[in-house]
Amino acid sequence: MPTQPNPTISLAIVGHGKMGQAIEQLAPARGFEVGLILDVDSNSGGAGLTAERFRDVDVCIEFTTPDAVLGNVRRVAALGCNLVVGTTGWFQHLNEVREIVDRSGIGVVYAPNFSIGAQLFFRAAEQVSRVFASFPTYEPYITETHHRFKKDAPSGTALELKRRVQPVLGDREVAVGSIRAGYVPGIHELGFDSEADTVILRHTARGRQGFAEGALYAARWVVGKKGLFAFADLFAT
Ligand code: NAD
Repeated sequence: MPTQPNPTISLAIVGHGKMGQAIEQLAPARGFEVGLILDVDSNSGGAGLTAERFRDVDVCIEFTTPDAVLGNVRRVAALGCNLVVGTTGWFQHLNEVREIVDRSGIGVVYAPNFSIGAQLFFRAAEQVSRVFASFPTYEPYITETHHRFKKDAPSGTALELKRRVQPVLGDREVAVGSIRAGYVPGIHELGFDSEADTVILRHTARGRQGFAEGALYAARWVVGKKGLFAFADLFAT
């Protein structure tokens, strides 16, 4: 039977910085029509998120700042529009966001890292940690390096990595270190250090395209869904 082509999806992009622009560039090739783009000047205090502008929008992708994201989520939810949240630095408010999502009946996918390779890295890290769990001579640690413009530290990805491996390693506290320098798109390492040697598992993002690719994948997936989903849920086996 011939396969049906994927229908074109109308997309709103909130936040037109480095990530918003990467998504705008890739979206047409992935079957999206970008109908609306808002940045801080057109959306100060959430003022750009109106019913009129969102009339024909199927799904919205949000990559802004930790200060702006909660207000944007609240407003997009009130408009009944499904949403992908890429902004990091707000996960301490996850319960509040869950309530907003449940109350409004929309679907939301969020992630500290939308790269598909990073999702596989998290799973590999859990397995490697299981291997080291019974060898206490190895001390676990996480390092992350990002460009000097990144506002939050440690990165959401480093915190997620710790959240995934800490339970496996029990009371051996996983130290986390952050470096902000230059233009690095993102490097995350899980290391195990002993007196004799070091073992490192590393994820290196080559650019922003991997994040944009994953965010658009999540945007297509979330159309017609209800509830709050972590991007990792889409890869659970
Ligand atoms: P950026 O600084 O280049 O862009 C942020 C943009 O948001 C700016 O253009 C700013 O003007 C705009 N903005 C601020 N307040 C706004 C508002 N109220 N409404 C609309 N736009 C507003 O940053 P970036 O590199 O694009 O990253 C954005 C966020 O995404 C950061 O939190 C970053 O850590 C995160 N990030 C997440 C992933 C992931 O995979 N989840 C990947 C890369 C970056």
